[in-house]
Amino acid sequence: MDAEVIVIGAGIGGLVTAAQLAAGGIDVLVLEKYLIPGGSAGYFDREVPEGHYRFDVGASMIYGFGTEGTTNLLTRALEAVDEHLETIPDPVQISYHLPKGLNPRVHRDYKRFIEELSRYFPEEKEGIRAFYDEAWRVFNCLNAIELKSLEEIRYLTRVFFQNPLACLGLARYLPVNVGSVARKYLKSPDLLKFIDMECYCWSVVTADQTPMINAGMVWADRHYGGINYPQGGVGRIGEALTRGITKKGGRVRYGARVTQVLVERGRAVGVRLATGEVLKAKKIISNATRWDTFGQLIPEANIPATEIRWRKRYEPSPSFLSLHLGVKREVLAQEVDMHHVVLEDWQRLTEEQGTIFVSIPTILDPTIAPPGRHIIHTFTPSSIEHWQGLNPTDYAQKKAQDAQCLIERLSKIWPGLAEAITFMEVGTPRTHRRFLGRMGGTYGPIPAGIPLGLLGAPFNRTAIKGLYCVGDSTFPGQGLNAVAFSGIACAHRVAVDLGITSGIPIRI
Ligand SMILES: Cc1cc2nc3c(=O)[nH]c(=O)nc-3n(C[C@H](O)[C@H](O)[C@H](O)COP(=O)(O)OP(=O)(O)OC[C@H]3O[C@@H](n4cnc5c(N)ncnc54)[C@H](O)[C@@H]3O)c2cc1C
Repeated sequence: MDAEVIVIGAGIGGLVTAAQLAAGGIDVLVLEKYLIPGGSAGYFDREVPEGHYRFDVGASMIYGFGTEGTTNLLTRALEAVDEHLETIPDPVQISYHLPKGLNPRVHRDYKRFIEELSRYFPEEKEGIRAFYDEAWRVFNCLNAIELKSLEEIRYLTRVFFQNPLACLGLARYLPVNVGSVARKYLKSPDLLKFIDMECYCWSVVTADQTPMINAGMVWADRHYGGINYPQGGVGRIGEALTRGITKKGGRVRYGARVTQVLVERGRAVGVRLATGEVLKAKKIISNATRWDTFGQLIPEANIPATEIRWRKRYEPSPSFLSLHLGVKREVLAQEVDMHHVVLEDWQRLTEEQGTIFVSIPTILDPTIAPPGRHIIHTFTPSSIEHWQGLNPTDYAQKKAQDAQCLIERLSKIWPGLAEAITFMEVGTPRTHRRFLGRMGGTYGPIPAGIPLGLLGAPFNRTAIKGLYCVGDSTFPGQGLNAVAFSGIACAHRVAVDLGITSGIPIRI
């Protein structure tokens, strides 16, 4: 055996799993194809004459760094390996720029947010409060229980007897989506569209397809634990987890691309790397997407029936067109908010390059850009089909045209933006596919139809014995805190399957 457990991929899902296992004294080896940890929560550095930029490749609105309750899973995952990160609290989660001048800001202070939104819809004030209060009821149930593997019966029984009301409360919401709850309290079509956007901006689907449990987590925790940006950039999270894993005796290897999960008599027993090297372990955990795990690492011909059924329930969401900009600080002199969501026409909410996301991390942490510069990371959903089959000239031209279009749209909010840009790098779905190893560069699975809330989301075990999945293709879905949950649950399940049962040395 080369390790007790091999984790394929050093995304946050894979790293949290490995950190939990290493903290529990289990010999774990992480194999990452790229050169640094973090995956979609990674970073890249650029030196320019004015100084140094550190760009976040993806995530920047970070949940899970709270200090209270049980849902602060990034804080807990780091603590498990004796690590801690300095974070900067974000006073406003999102500044919206929506049709008909609907521009509310989601303040960290809950009452202030409700008051601000209600000013746009005074006749719906009570409904707005009642609707978001219902999200808090979901969150309070979640935040009262220890979050581990829902596939482990002894844990479920224990948690149920410790907290029957919270568990029954959550069970009630399991099959529920946001849309039906929103329509119970809210009438205005524009307000219901706003709720669609409140879902879309993290779930990339509208309210009717967004599970209420996920929404409860997101809409309450932004006011409870809050949104907190890691000092020095999001890449610090992956770095700290890796440091912690190593400290606890685990290993992380970079430039180690797994091409195959080896299966003998129906059981996963090891992996083969692109170099041909074979490594054996008792348990294999894949942090690649489910489509890449079953289809690439397990050949298409051997995909279990459960995965075929899953593919009918969930489809890949689009990827993104991303612009990483360095701009002169003056152009944002009046700006105080880090995250913005922009849409000019409700019809375009879910369309190709419709909704625009903007993150300006240097509002909170100026150290990641040269003096006198801000970073703007702006991205908009885009599907790989629009970028396939282009020759290098056409590809470069499309990149330039689409980037210009995005900058023109943002210039309506920040006049003079185009002229203030001193650095620009453009990423497309092809970039996301190449660097993150994600099929089509997808952001993750989205329901193919109207889901039964969270009931159809797959857990960590797969139909192949000894093979587990972790990350955003598993319960509860996309987002760093969500994949941290998936990692904690996966490690718990694997530890139990390794025979480490009561008194699991895994701290959460
Ligand atoms: C543009 C963008 C913005 C986002 N914004 C936010 C945000 O603001 N807040 C938030 O919480 N979330 C955000 N997200 C989502 C969040 O980043 C992801 O849900 C999360 O990081 C996914 O983590 P993961 O561990 O599941 O997978 P990944 O991050 O995809 O990591 C998987 C890792 O596995 C490696 N790998 C894959 N295949 C192999 C192989 N065969 N061999 C070896 N290694 C392999 C990859 O290189 C990668 O490092 C954003 C995502 C994107 C793309």
